[in-house]
Amino acid sequence: MDIQFLGTGAGQPSKARNVSSLALKLLDEINAVWLFDCGEGTQNRILETTIRPRKVSKIFITHLHGDHIFGLPGFLSSRAFQANEEQTDLDIYGPQGIKSFVLTSLRVSGSRLPYKIHFHEFDQDSLGKILETDKFTVYAEELDHTIFCVGYRVMQKDLEGTLDAEKLKAAGVPFGPLFGKIKNGQDVVLEDGTEIKATDYISAPRPGKVVTILGDTRKTNASVRLAVNADVLVHESTYGKGDEKIARNHGHSTNMQAAQVAAEAGAKRLLLNHISARFLSKDISQLKKDAATVFENVHVVKDLEEVEI
Ligand SMILES: [Zn+2]
Repeated sequence: MDIQFLGTGAGQPSKARNVSSLALKLLDEINAVWLFDCGEGTQNRILETTIRPRKVSKIFITHLHGDHIFGLPGFLSSRAFQANEEQTDLDIYGPQGIKSFVLTSLRVSGSRLPYKIHFHEFDQDSLGKILETDKFTVYAEELDHTIFCVGYRVMQKDLEGTLDAEKLKAAGVPFGPLFGKIKNGQDVVLEDGTEIKATDYISAPRPGKVVTILGDTRKTNASVRLAVNADVLVHESTYGKGDEKIARNHGHSTNMQAAQVAAEAGAKRLLLNHISARFLSKDISQLKKDAATVFENVHVVKDLEEVEI
């Protein structure tokens, strides 16, 4: 499981940072990629990665501000142009209005897609668990921005324990159907009377990963709830230390507030994005340094950077 950042800038693109989008790569887990937000130019950034648009099976939108959604019509249209490849359906999750935005853009531009889009819109009253599959559950909760905006908590379900084949062989279990029984948790008795307890040969289930990806927001308790014990928290840092008042006025957070959220939530790692173009590279190292006084495991991400979870 990896996150690749496609756009880490705030508001408008700069030479170094495109507007918001990131890819949660779940190739080993479910052979798919989930996009979170899709600012203008997201498809151009994707061209610089190994991500195949067809593999993008779900897109989650945090809010309807342009720097988070203007890339959708272009990406969705280009995704249709993979003529030799199978056309696969796509799900879009987001605030009410996202369906109208996408369908209007496609209709006005005369774009017809050879695959289906399933829209899953929500508002303040229909948040909570928005998706459950056999491997993942996704929760959304409202944040505190200038328009309705959500954060997502992606929870991988616990991974089954694995069978210790070497240990079984050493115990004299012949390779074959017995292995399957033991793997299914069944105790067996060998021909010589030896009892084999399945639990002695299966490792404990491993806890699934938790990834929290927030949209634009002021500091709010909802962020903390979404990030409780998260392996990774992706949090905006539109402003720096000392700018708390202006951040509040514009519906955003500072690096220090993001760090406080990570600390309060007991998250393991904090990745800061949505970085203003006002920040030069020396300011970026200062952003990190200051945030680290509150939460040590923090990093300011760059476009195209890939982080293993
Ligand atoms: Zn916004």
